[in-house]
Amino acid sequence: MKAIALQPGTKNLRLADWAEPTIQQPDQIKVKVLQVGICGTDREEASGGRADAPPGEKELIIGHEMVSQIVEVGSAVKNFKPQDHVVFTVRRGCNKCPACLAWRFDLCTTGNYTERGIRARHGFQSEFVVDSQDFAIPVPAELSKIAVMTEPMSVVEKAIDEASIIQTARIPYLNKGQDWLSGKTVLVAGLGPIGLLAAIILRLRGATVIGLDVVDDNSPRAKILKQMGGTYVNDRSIVMKDFLVKYPHIELIVEAAGIAALDFSLIEMLGINGIMVLTGVPGDQRLNNVDGAGLMRQLVLKNQVVVGSVNASIDHFKRGIQDFQSASKQWPGLLEQLITQRYSFENFEEALNHHSADEIKVIIEWNK
Ligand SMILES: [Zn+2]
Ligand SMILES: [Zn+2]
Repeated sequence: MKAIALQPGTKNLRLADWAEPTIQQPDQIKVKVLQVGICGTDREEASGGRADAPPGEKELIIGHEMVSQIVEVGSAVKNFKPQDHVVFTVRRGCNKCPACLAWRFDLCTTGNYTERGIRARHGFQSEFVVDSQDFAIPVPAELSKIAVMTEPMSVVEKAIDEASIIQTARIPYLNKGQDWLSGKTVLVAGLGPIGLLAAIILRLRGATVIGLDVVDDNSPRAKILKQMGGTYVNDRSIVMKDFLVKYPHIELIVEAAGIAALDFSLIEMLGINGIMVLTGVPGDQRLNNVDGAGLMRQLVLKNQVVVGSVNASIDHFKRGIQDFQSASKQWPGLLEQLITQRYSFENFEEALNHHSADEIKVIIEWNK
């Protein structure tokens, strides 16, 4: 079969002829890969950044955001059958720490987890993949065209879940049986795939959503946000004083920009008792000038929380699928608009290197 293989730590990426995986254990599923998404992690790997080949191997098949269709199941697989659509999760636990033993690999404390397509396990940029049914998330057929975004959706589900859990636990009156997000004002910073998926979840939960980016008002990102009832604010034309008068009670900021200088300035927008959840991973090494004392004063005097969130649990993948279902009913055709570029696997280099101004989600197509 064909696969996109990388020599970790280099820019040597090739379309390789690779041995097709076969079912080795009764609980395994073999799938043909339909689509694989590309994100900043893939681009970082392909430019010589963070990535590891499996032990004893020189190359890593990249790719961690996928949707696929089952071609074969092992003898112990009961809940899946050929033709079903599935998404495989990314992280596998260390099998040692309490978090991993409780199947919360995303909270692994030893750091000895592995990740398909990133760390010590081959990824999904190939024609076929085999994995255990334990890591397969069922996808309704009607979502098969957009389910390639399930992995980034799971990351956002976790981030919003973390904020909800913390806020309802520490501020008891928020917890009245209904979703605490209902009626709250939330700022989403950065309207790439993560930011727009966050806006979808927040709108589904009844929040008022303000989306911040630096694109024009009539760009796809801003338009998609407005279609779901969000308000677009251009960061280039923002006057902080006016913003704070207009939106004095921002109770949650979902950070999805990964730009440290911007993120520090965002904290100023957070309301009393508010929480900010960080999902972006800044790629640069530049030092930032921060008014540290002012920042600390604000966090203390306003009872504010800043929390980071990475990866997701299996339940977050499942919740992502549920929210895709709700979103496609509420805003038909909206999720499809998030996939702005599609490339055949032969053109993987263009998919990884080409950046268009209107880009949101780039995907590689393996099979129809
Ligand atoms: Zn990704
Ligand atoms: Zn662990």
